[in-house]
Amino acid sequence: MSNDNLISVEHLYRRYAGLVAVKDVSFELQRGEVLGFLGPNGAGKTTTMQIITGNLAPTSGRILINGLDLLDRPRQAKGEIGYLPEQPPLYRELTVDEYLRFCARLNRLRRDTITAAVDRAKQRCGLEQVGRRLINNLSKGYQQRVGIAQAIIHSPAVVVLDEPTVGLDPIQIREIRELIRELGEEHGVILSTHILPEVQMTCDRVQIINRGQLVFSDHVDNLDRRMQSSSLILGLQQ
Ligand code: ATP
Repeated sequence: MSNDNLISVEHLYRRYAGLVAVKDVSFELQRGEVLGFLGPNGAGKTTTMQIITGNLAPTSGRILINGLDLLDRPRQAKGEIGYLPEQPPLYRELTVDEYLRFCARLNRLRRDTITAAVDRAKQRCGLEQVGRRLINNLSKGYQQRVGIAQAIIHSPAVVVLDEPTVGLDPIQIREIRELIRELGEEHGVILSTHILPEVQMTCDRVQIINRGQLVFSDHVDNLDRRMQSSSLILGLQQ
């Protein structure tokens, strides 16, 4: 494994009764890159994201997060990952500040570092002006920023974002995509999505998953040519 790998996944499988949701998936995430995980609905994206964030056990396979084996040292390895799930568990009756402080404690940040961590996450996600607002009263775009802020509250090496722009309006989508690019300057980022232009706008490298298997992996600039000449485009939003 190269020292620049933040994630190294080897021969990952996840079986459900009668179905192989993830089949022999291997990939690496390198320091300083935004990696797109592109695929149609049901392709196995969320299952893969849940496994590499330590929220779902694989049937088999090996996952190293910043050099730590996720299955052998789950607590330490999970500390290296920030995760925005498809439906983030926001406590909408809390203010942004209260929620982020709560997330900081969940991530076992030292008490005397929590205020600085919350301020930093808010600043990076453009939430400085809304700390005292109830999450429930924020727009969907701002709620998604809160979801991203909780993912980076403990300054993880890797940030995993699962379908971060679904349900947002065009302006909110553009802003979240800009934020994803900015995250890539400080973290390794994995972006799971079924939206082709989202990958083209935000990612350095892309992997396409279909029926649980990786069918394409390359620099994002090489995607256009390949997509036009293949059936990979089926089921993807353009
Ligand atoms: P979507 O964008 O629709 O969430 P996805 O690419 O994230 O799609 P997954 O949610 O990972 O796909 O699902 C991959 C496959 O595994 C699908 O066929 C799905 O029905 C199946 N699957 C997922 N979770 C379970 C489960 N708990 N039990 C049985 N099958 C499951």
